[in-house]
Formats: sequence, structure tokens, C-alpha cells
Amino acid sequence: MPSVETVRGPVDTAALGNVLMHEHIFVLGTEVRQNFPGYLGAWDEDAQVADAVAKLNECAARGITTIVDPTVIGLGRYIPRVQRVAADVNLHIIVATGAYTYNDIPFQFHYNGPGLLFDMPEPMVELFVSDVRDGIAGTGVKAAFLKCAIDAPGLTPGVERVMRAVAQASLETGRPITVHTSVHNESGLIAQKVLSEEGVDLSRVVIGHSGDSADLNYLTQLADAGSYLGMDRFGLDVLLPFEQRVSTIVELIRRGYAERLVLSHDASCYIDWFASDARAAAAPNWNYTHVSDHVIPALLERGVTADQVKTMLVDNPRRYFE
Ligand SMILES: [Zn+2]
Repeated sequence: MPSVETVRGPVDTAALGNVLMHEHIFVLGTEVRQNFPGYLGAWDEDAQVADAVAKLNECAARGITTIVDPTVIGLGRYIPRVQRVAADVNLHIIVATGAYTYNDIPFQFHYNGPGLLFDMPEPMVELFVSDVRDGIAGTGVKAAFLKCAIDAPGLTPGVERVMRAVAQASLETGRPITVHTSVHNESGLIAQKVLSEEGVDLSRVVIGHSGDSADLNYLTQLADAGSYLGMDRFGLDVLLPFEQRVSTIVELIRRGYAERLVLSHDASCYIDWFASDARAAAAPNWNYTHVSDHVIPALLERGVTADQVKTMLVDNPRRYFE
């Protein structure tokens, strides 16, 4: 039986059940928070862990059994805190390795690497592989997939370096990839090109945030190359309204793409990029229960079958991790 690593250890892929494929728990900038405490809101460790447990158990009460958390370097990944949450929630939590940047790589990598001041093999590859094989920072928790990003600035040198390191670590470990992309510059296509050049099988890649687009030409092009489309920002109606997100999925399914779609919110229990009350006012449905409470009922109402919902929530995530 194929299994996948979760925060609480390996789980049979058949037991993953209903999976939200892109949710964060905590997105934190530790350095800013330590030096400017209170900026955009105070942080209380115990209260935030308890809040995360409550929010995730609410999600689990809807029948969701697994969440996939692509919080990596650049987003404040800190596995001991996720372990505290995982111990008290009725959900499998799958974590990632990789790096998240729209521009440059962290300075800790800037001078270290092939052809750089300190010439050495790409250190990120070895670090990402070790997160998969040996576990993350002594926690024993193993990363089950890799994550990188390409946003509005496109394929900057830093973005490309991370993407190629992620691809190489994926090939070495056999683990799949999720890419944060921007629909505005169709950067999913650039990601597919770079990952293909490295030899990655595009059917093992989620093109994240594809659901911000209603452009069926763009979306079917990505899916026809074999990748999953992350219809994964439900609740971010400010980026694309709910109705358009839903009708795009309905049309893609009508055209036979159910096996290429995964669902999620890209929500977090706590993200320190925004003041919490401003965020809640701007995106009131940006939480872990919107897909269960509103999206699936809307899809069913428009003729999507329960089987097709199962394909997106259960079968596609399972295949991705196998
Ligand atoms: Zn995300």
C-alpha cells in the first residue's frame, strides 16, 4: 500500500479521504515580529495554537480528513508549532519543503552555490532532499512534497534557482511539486517549461492558484500538459469572484477535466501579512470551511456529480501523492 508522510507519521494514501490541497496553518515573519512586536497585531503562541486547533477541527467536522500545507522557507515554516496543532486535531496534515520567493533567494543562499563566491553544489537541493528523507530540523516530520513560487516579477534569477533546485530534489526523491503561480502573467506556463527542462513529469505538479483565472484557454493548456490545476483560493473573492470560480470549474468538468482539478482555499489560521480584522473584512469567506459549506453545494447545484466532487477531493490528491 502506498503511503504518504504526515506530521503524525506515514498514512496509507487510501486513508487520506477528502483533501484540501493548499492550506496554510501559520504564515509568520519571525524576524519582523521579534523586532516590531505588535505591528499588524500581537502574537500569543498558546492562544494561536488553540485557535488553529479550533478552526481545523471545525474543518474536520465538515468531513475533510487531510490538509496539505505548503508553508516553506519564506513563509515562516516552523514544524514544532505545527506538531502541537496536529496532536489535537482530527486531520492528517501534510507538510512541504522548498522556498517561497517572488524575487530573490534568501541571503543565506546568495553567495553559496554553483559558480558563486563560495563555489559548491546547489545547497538547496541537499537541504530539500534531507527534509524528505531524514525529516525536518530534527523533528522527525518528513516533507511529502516540494514547493516553489513564480509571481508577477516572473522568472527572476532567484525564482529560477529555487525552481530548478525544487525540480532536482523532486527527481531525486520522487516527491511531487506544488508551484505558487500568478494568472496575470500566466506564470504557470513558465513553471511548466522550467520544470520540464529539468525532467520533471508535469503530471506530478500542481499549478497553484490557477483558480484565480477564468481564462479557459490558459487553464486547458496547463491541464493538457498534464498538471493539476489548483482551484485553491476559494474565499479570495477579491481576486476572482465566487461565481466565476465556480462556473470555471463547472465548464472545465463539462470539458472532461475533473481528473486535473484540486480544491482548496489557501487560507491560514493566522497570517501576519495583514491585520486580522482588515483581512476578515476584505475576505470574509477566506477560511477552511467555505469549500464544504458553499463551493461543493454550488457545484452540485450546477450539475457536477458527487462522483466528480470525489474525484477532485479524494482521487486526484491520492494519485498526486502516490
Ligand atoms: Zn499558499
